[in-house]
Amino acid sequence: MRIRRKALAILLIALSTSTVPIFSFTASAHEIYYTGSSTNATAIPIKWNNFSNGKAYLKINGDNLSSEYSSAYSTASFLWSTYSQKVTTSQVSFGASTLDIASTTKAYWDQRFGIVGTGILGITDSKSTDGYIINSSNVQNSSKKVSYSQIFMTPYTSMYNSSNLNNHKIATITHEIGHALGLGHPNEYYYPTNVESIMRTGGDYEGYYVPRTHDINDLTNKY
Ligand SMILES: [Zn+2]
Repeated sequence: MRIRRKALAILLIALSTSTVPIFSFTASAHEIYYTGSSTNATAIPIKWNNFSNGKAYLKINGDNLSSEYSSAYSTASFLWSTYSQKVTTSQVSFGASTLDIASTTKAYWDQRFGIVGTGILGITDSKSTDGYIINSSNVQNSSKKVSYSQIFMTPYTSMYNSSNLNNHKIATITHEIGHALGLGHPNEYYYPTNVESIMRTGGDYEGYYVPRTHDINDLTNKY
């Protein structure tokens, strides 16, 4: 989930000055879920299932994205495979896809997220090979391999940084695809770091939209 919320940004700044980031060796990457509690938390690694020749193979479709996202989609689709040797991407027809990226209506967004919804820019829903919707309540019972992901992009496009509009959209789509690959937020949960990462959450647009070194290393460690 990509969140733009000023209050959270202020909180994260406070955290980063008061804590020393520690990357635990129990985590292979910055994962979405952990079991246990700090400082003995253990990562629950979630991986993309379709993996061959050393690469996670994403079959992406964006037919259900509004024209507001067309340009961002065409760039963001291929950024992970451009920057990481662990990812291959192809754009395929709807129905042949394992990663669908779609726009939603404001009614859908309001119903799903309520009053905080306008601050959420994207959300990724993933399904495991054993049929679970992968979320915090059931991930420990699943195979932890993602067979399909659905990314929803906000209809509240006025929430994107107005002076970096398209780049912010690209960054958000890239961030959500990172979740499909099993990456979590490196600035929350048990082992936070303040390094540059496309997977950071909260705050405003950070000024870049391609995966950073930290993200590429996380994928290399995971796969
Ligand atoms: Zn996120």
